Amino acid sequence: MSTLRLVLADQLSASLASLADADKARDTLLFCEVMEEATYVPHHPQKIAFLFAAMRHFAAECEAAGFRVRYVRLEDAANTGSFDGEVARAVTELQPARLILTEPGEYRVLQKMKGWEAQLGIPVEIRADERFLSSLADFRRWAGDKRQLRMEFFYREMRKRYGLLMEPDGQPTGGQWNYDKENRQPPKAGLPQIPRPRHAETPILREVLDLVAARFGGHFGRLEPFAYAVTRAQALAELEHFIAQRLPHFGTYQDAMLAGEPHLYHSVISAYLNAGLLLPLEVCQAAEAAYRAGAAPLNAVEGFIRQILGWREYVRGIYWQFMPGYGELNYFDATEPLPDFYWGAKTQMFCVAEAVRHTRDHAYSHHIQRLMVTGNFALLAGLDVKEVQAWYLAVYADAYEWVEMPNTLGMALFGDGGRMASKPYAASGKYIHRMSNFCERCAYDPEQMTGEKACPFNALYWDFLARHEDKLRGNQRMPYVYATWERFGPHKQEAIRAQAARHLARMREGEL
Ligand SMILES: Cc1cc2nc3c(=O)[nH]c(=O)nc-3n(C[C@H](O)[C@H](O)[C@H](O)COP(=O)(O)OP(=O)(O)OC[C@H]3O[C@@H](n4cnc5c(N)ncnc54)[C@H](O)[C@@H]3O)c2cc1C
Ligand code: SF4
Repeated sequence: MSTLRLVLADQLSASLASLADADKARDTLLFCEVMEEATYVPHHPQKIAFLFAAMRHFAAECEAAGFRVRYVRLEDAANTGSFDGEVARAVTELQPARLILTEPGEYRVLQKMKGWEAQLGIPVEIRADERFLSSLADFRRWAGDKRQLRMEFFYREMRKRYGLLMEPDGQPTGGQWNYDKENRQPPKAGLPQIPRPRHAETPILREVLDLVAARFGGHFGRLEPFAYAVTRAQALAELEHFIAQRLPHFGTYQDAMLAGEPHLYHSVISAYLNAGLLLPLEVCQAAEAAYRAGAAPLNAVEGFIRQILGWREYVRGIYWQFMPGYGELNYFDATEPLPDFYWGAKTQMFCVAEAVRHTRDHAYSHHIQRLMVTGNFALLAGLDVKEVQAWYLAVYADAYEWVEMPNTLGMALFGDGGRMASKPYAASGKYIHRMSNFCERCAYDPEQMTGEKACPFNALYWDFLARHEDKLRGNQRMPYVYATWERFGPHKQEAIRAQAARHLARMREGEL
């Protein structure tokens, strides 16, 4: 029985469930570059180039391994521009007896796929994506009827299940589950600069870069210099470099931000994990091996493993647990249009401008910039939750809705009303001042609350708390901030709120 096996651009793993029983003599693997997926948000040119180049390489590797491959390029004259069209065309031309897929990462695409059996008139089998370490059924079982789904408890279960950083007596290595308290050091002078490794440009990558420049040059973001790995071998080399050079510093400076240092000691492997060039378990095991060999400290290794075994699996579980309703949530009714400075227009706020510059140049900024700079500003200013999500989905090389939405809506914007976070990650300019060297380069002063030079994050922070007092005052983790707000007294409160209104007015005028 001949089978058509569709492989999506984020399914570039030899261990993919839908390839498991492929018959090289009779089956065909279908890969397609479709305009609909490349443009449903204006993806960063580096993201499109990364995915097309990685998919072309992976398809070529499958062909070299003896598979029959049907690869539809974006520029092919017959390309219909959509998954629906390309799958239908392949079925008409190849007459397979059935179609096998691995479940996609996005609810929207899954809905499409569920309609294919009826549309195509052949059996369609959708297999679970086994590259994740927690199946959706496992997550549902863990979630059960818990009132709160806290990542930390999920993470501990996962540590036990996979035996990562666990001792033979069942206790966590070092006696603690979590070393986060050691991982919040601000940057200091003289920290070593460790550049990201470079990869040789392959002919496939060059071809794709030229295609993306011609077809998507108008999207926000620089295409070159392009530094992403586009093959598994290159991605593995990058992982090795990270484990040897940056992992030892990763924990301590995980939350630190430095001008001109988009990656600092972060791994920059999310795009590879999410597309399948690297697998989560091998990455966690490589980090643990570095600890066991004495090459990296426990706080760094535990912190890194927690991001992958904990956060990454947890946000995927949250997404599928609550979709499709999740995408409609907007707890604070935030509807303010996204300011142009998110797309590179001028702003005097150095922290925001720098995070956007990193994003423009690398299709990347690290977690704290996403959460505490661009995310925090969006939360405080009440920016429209859908516009903010569309921005995060477009501008990062690692962005797919299953991971972007819970992080943006749930974590950064508290738009789900606390399903993920126990309180909003709202912070004044003091946090950014402590954790970065941004403020010393800024036109604003992080110490000032009111006045021409006052850092916008300060008044906006208190104004946010005042605006949403009805929703936040009852939160168990908020009483002390409201106690401080009350101590300000009516005069100061009024001045702060008037200052916040001025910031918002200037933002709308493009002058913030
Ligand atoms: C508003 C917002 C939007 C985000 N959107 C995305 C997104 O679209 N895609 C994405 O992969 N990550 C997203 N993240 C999570 C995180 O910021 C990135 O995974 C991380 O910055 C990627 O850089 P890195 O590979 O250097 O990560 P490191 O800091 O080196 O961490 C190692 C790995 O852990 C995983 N990880 C870390 N934090 C998270 C997290 N919160 N959720 C899921 N996985 C995590 C990633 O796979 C990452 O590669 C978002 C975070 C925020 C606050
Ligand atoms: S002063 Fe405020 S706006 Fe300027 S960099 Fe610091 S936190 Fe950002």
